Amino acid sequence: MSKRDYYDILGVSKGSSADEIKKAYRKMAIKYHPDKNPGDKASEDKFKEAAEAYEILSNAEKKQRYDQYGHAGVGGAGGGGYGGGGMNMDDIFSNFGDVFGGHNPFESFFGGGGQQRGGRRVTKGTNLRIKVKLTLEEIAHGAEKKIKVNKLIACKTCDGSGAKDKSSVSTCSTCGGSGQVRRVTNTILGQMQTASTCPTCNGNGEQITSKCTSCHGEGVVRGEETITINIPAGVSEGMQLSMSGKGNAAQNGGIPGDLIILIEESAHETLKREGNNVVYDLHLSFVDAALGTSIEVPTIDGKAKIKIEPGTQSGKLLRLKGKGLPEVNSYHRGDEIIHINIWTPKALSSDERDVLENLRDSANFKPQPGKNDKSFFERMKEYFE
Ligand SMILES: [Zn+2]
Ligand SMILES: [Zn+2]
Repeated sequence: MSKRDYYDILGVSKGSSADEIKKAYRKMAIKYHPDKNPGDKASEDKFKEAAEAYEILSNAEKKQRYDQYGHAGVGGAGGGGYGGGGMNMDDIFSNFGDVFGGHNPFESFFGGGGQQRGGRRVTKGTNLRIKVKLTLEEIAHGAEKKIKVNKLIACKTCDGSGAKDKSSVSTCSTCGGSGQVRRVTNTILGQMQTASTCPTCNGNGEQITSKCTSCHGEGVVRGEETITINIPAGVSEGMQLSMSGKGNAAQNGGIPGDLIILIEESAHETLKREGNNVVYDLHLSFVDAALGTSIEVPTIDGKAKIKIEPGTQSGKLLRLKGKGLPEVNSYHRGDEIIHINIWTPKALSSDERDVLENLRDSANFKPQPGKNDKSFFERMKEYFE
């Protein structure tokens, strides 16, 4: 299909000024606007065609290429750019700000924004917020939570319509079902049909003569729904997840709101979270530290056995690689870091006291920190940066 000449589309000549082109486009945009011609495919095509022509002719550089090479110069025959399927409606509407000098008549007269554009107003339910508390194990592996939520749900008696039965719903007599009332006004751009939301039906195009008794015509009632929430591994305190359409139901069969899930962490008995790492404070007897041993420590995945080398110093950090928490949407997993604390006995029997007294002056028991022993901060840096 060969494309029509852009100048012909807007009804202007090649020598027209930018102002004349803009004026011509305004006229076309108003004439073929989809809100004025609901359901009319031919008008919609004309509307798009005019927008495409204006897009090219209002841009000095594109206009020059078009003048020189025709459609081929501006992405022409079925190729990319605006050549193929024409312009996207949202692009067209978003350009109206420029075309109508910052005042887009359709915003106010036709309720230009999103859900209302087709005529009838669609109501949206409110968002619902809930808190979900997770253990460290659930955070590590992800969790499926079934949660009973108290919210507005569609009325079962009337199926959300708010009407007593089918015969008590009729087309709104004020607006004839379009959801909008129109009137003709004179503006600087000529005579224009304007529309506003129908006050009788609030824009939904229907009138209820007899209300549902369960919901008093609201279409929604307070109720409970059990919602299954899949929480990905690696979430953290304060994070918010959103499930669209799981919030409060909307009145008169509109779109339900979203469910916003706020993540909370419950404290673990022995492990502490530091970002994606978990930290465990291991208290070791001074004898085990001196002689070495093997000992069980808790991890998110159960117990793990670790080896304590003879002569282990207090403050040493051991790392269990990959035993920490995953990152959301990533295979990377943090580590478990074991912080060694040497336990000093708080009470001693007289026998124990004797043994230790004998060791007091032994050369091996005198602290001998070496130059190579790292400071606490150096160790922390090494593990957390
Ligand atoms: Zn009802
Ligand atoms: Zn109405």
